[in-house]
Amino acid sequence: MKLTLGGIRGTNPVTGTAYTDFGGDTTSLMVEGADGTRLIIDMGTGLRSIDQKIRRTREQRLLNIFLTHYHLDHLIGLPAFSPLYDSTWTLKINGPRLEGFSVGEVMHRILARPFWPLQMEAMRAEVQFSDLENPGPDSQRLVGGMQVRWCPIHHPGGCVAYRIDEPATGASMVFATDIEWHESTGLERADFIRLCTVPKPADVLLFDGQFSPETSGKYRGWGHSSWKEAVEVATTAGIRRLFIIHHSPERNDISLHAIEGEAQKMLATARLGRQGHTIEIANTLPNSTGD
Ligand SMILES: [Zn+2]
Ligand SMILES: [Zn+2]
Repeated sequence: MKLTLGGIRGTNPVTGTAYTDFGGDTTSLMVEGADGTRLIIDMGTGLRSIDQKIRRTREQRLLNIFLTHYHLDHLIGLPAFSPLYDSTWTLKINGPRLEGFSVGEVMHRILARPFWPLQMEAMRAEVQFSDLENPGPDSQRLVGGMQVRWCPIHHPGGCVAYRIDEPATGASMVFATDIEWHESTGLERADFIRLCTVPKPADVLLFDGQFSPETSGKYRGWGHSSWKEAVEVATTAGIRRLFIIHHSPERNDISLHAIEGEAQKMLATARLGRQGHTIEIANTLPNSTGD
């Protein structure tokens, strides 16, 4: 399984020479299975570079998209996504029902007048919407050889974390953007740790670390964690390959390199996510059930 980080900046895109190492585009990533199946998580401005990769695809013109929530930094790349305007593509857009809105309703709203020149009716691709049901023992989506599971996480208005397992290779990853660990209830924490650890600790964890431990108290209720909490959660879950994501637009490369150094004092294998980075994910731990 291979993960490409199209963008991992939080809140706002940033640009310029001070941001070249970690990148300035907001959240969007692509997961590719060993069988060539691809799926996309979130549609921030980082979707543009993923778009450029996939539009060259000739054979497989079916794409599953999983949305964590509908804040604009995770959705603003959607209206210009080129497969939407191409009748040879089929897009399955999956997302949670949040604050009374289904994923289909959200998509129609973001493409409604006066926000964009073309509305959903003008999209030539076949677009299918699918609300994620509440997580239970059987709730999962199969995308080629990949299994996708999810659980709600603590964030204003709601958000979900995703876990992707690839049974053929045993590789697994968990993606948790926009999560406020400090404010999470005991139940929310337990559900998330379960997602991270069952059937075995994921090989890779990506976790929101927008704030610094010194300032996170000032931003309580804003929906994000500190990089230190990201390290603590990875340690609790027994996951060594941690990528801290959702970097604040206030942080330039110098500041983010310093944070990465601090995080590595706690967990030597911790890294900060870098835009454009491709992460090869391999099975690193035996299944806890022994199979
Ligand atoms: Zn965000
Ligand atoms: Zn958010």
